[in-house]
Amino acid sequence: MLDTILGAHEKIPVYAEGELYRIIRLHDHTFHLYYGYYEDCERENPAIDPMPIYPDFLKNPQHTSDGFPFVTKMQDACQHYKGNKDRFSECAECEYYAHGDELLGICVCPQNRLKPTTENHLDREDLV
Ligand code: SF4
Repeated sequence: MLDTILGAHEKIPVYAEGELYRIIRLHDHTFHLYYGYYEDCERENPAIDPMPIYPDFLKNPQHTSDGFPFVTKMQDACQHYKGNKDRFSECAECEYYAHGDELLGICVCPQNRLKPTTENHLDREDLV
């Protein structure tokens, strides 16, 4: 009875790989997040259920129309990290991290911002 009241018998739903987790609209971008695995070894481990997969912006950079790079909270810090370096080395701990939605945000570091080369064109070669 107490278990029922506390919900101890409720099963946590397990989502299948490839199922849509959420659609996040942030600035002028739309991100479709699906359940999956970050590593093949996770897929082979029966104790690990599919999890929401966030974009890898280090591999595939994306920017707002103003030139600010999208980052995830768990992204490895870059050379322009500002904050307590002894604590963590992820974007979430950096003073330049601007929270967006869930684990997505943007980096407002002026060094990482794409510089416009013409009025409406951003030069990707200026990426740090
Ligand atoms: S400057 Fe930007 S990319 Fe670098 S650690 Fe901070 S938030 Fe992340």
